[in-house]
Amino acid sequence: MGSLSNQDQAECREKAEYANVNWDELGFSLTKTDYMYVMTFNQDEGKFSQGTITRFGNIELCPSSGILNYGQGLFEGLKAYRKEDEGILLFRPEENALRMKMGADRMCMPSPTVEQFVDAVKKTVLANKRWVPPNGRGSLYIRPLLMGTGQNLGVKPASEYTFLVYASPVGSYNKGELNLMVEDKVHRATPGGTGGIKAVTNYSPVYKPLTQAKAKGFSDVLFLDALTGSNIEEGSACNIFILKGNVISTPAADGTILPGITRKSIMELASGFGYQVEERAIPIEEVFDAEEIFCTGTAMVVKSVASITYRGKRTEYKVGADTLAEELHATLTGIQTGVKEDKLGWTMAIH
Ligand SMILES: *Cc1c(COP(=O)(O)O)cnc(C)c1O
Repeated sequence: MGSLSNQDQAECREKAEYANVNWDELGFSLTKTDYMYVMTFNQDEGKFSQGTITRFGNIELCPSSGILNYGQGLFEGLKAYRKEDEGILLFRPEENALRMKMGADRMCMPSPTVEQFVDAVKKTVLANKRWVPPNGRGSLYIRPLLMGTGQNLGVKPASEYTFLVYASPVGSYNKGELNLMVEDKVHRATPGGTGGIKAVTNYSPVYKPLTQAKAKGFSDVLFLDALTGSNIEEGSACNIFILKGNVISTPAADGTILPGITRKSIMELASGFGYQVEERAIPIEEVFDAEEIFCTGTAMVVKSVASITYRGKRTEYKVGADTLAEELHATLTGIQTGVKEDKLGWTMAIH
């Protein structure tokens, strides 16, 4: 390429079928891709403008923007997978669109329609197609954001909003098992709060207990309900399931549990397998005699819990081959990557 200008060389690289990435080294961290999607909410028209694909890069914000000052913002997370035949599949993107709408309502923000959301996700993935890992070697993680970007000194909803979608290739986050520590002082969510939506303010308040648990060798914390401190809720970024006999239980998503799309999918798959699926309050005592415990989320999909430690008492669970978690993981990732038949119509082919 010696005689080509820098710009021509860059264009040549971008035409390559795959970006120059060591796919097998990918973890869950940002690898910058070429493009992002941006759409703004126009106050006068009362709707979102025609969005556009722009170069991925830093954005400019007024120091008094709603997102910076008062945390008026939401995020979403979903993945695009490459099939064996190179086709690209999204997994249940309308569910993320609906969840963003629900969250926007709670946070007093306008939200893109389901069509606008899905269209933005598609355009972002297609513009960054060369960053979608080869089949079986990871996925393109897509991060939609909705934020108050208008100036906003007074305590009130922002006057302008931005919907932005960016993406990053990520590896399979499923490796290894989880060792959870039950957190009985800090609560993730409170009734009437925002724990049931993907508010940008949900994670930083749990960094402290999470960091402390990690320093002790745990992978995550397991939160208890704020009202009674006696029922399990979820991890810092994942839902939890317990298996006993033919019954799979998960805490009911009634405001303090994030209604995970993986959670919902796992419940549907498990009942298809013949399990009785229950959404209910789960007292911490029930984890002591569970046969198997696993967590779910877009990043990890399904991951076995090897142990749970509560007030110094450690309980261990079955992990590895022939666990239900393994079977559910194989089934779900099979559907997501187009290897298994998608009987429930969860995937969306994009081109
Ligand atoms: C996003 C999230 C989950 C998982 O939701 P998925 O839709 O399955 O990715 C679980 N818990 C919390 C707190 C979350 O923010």
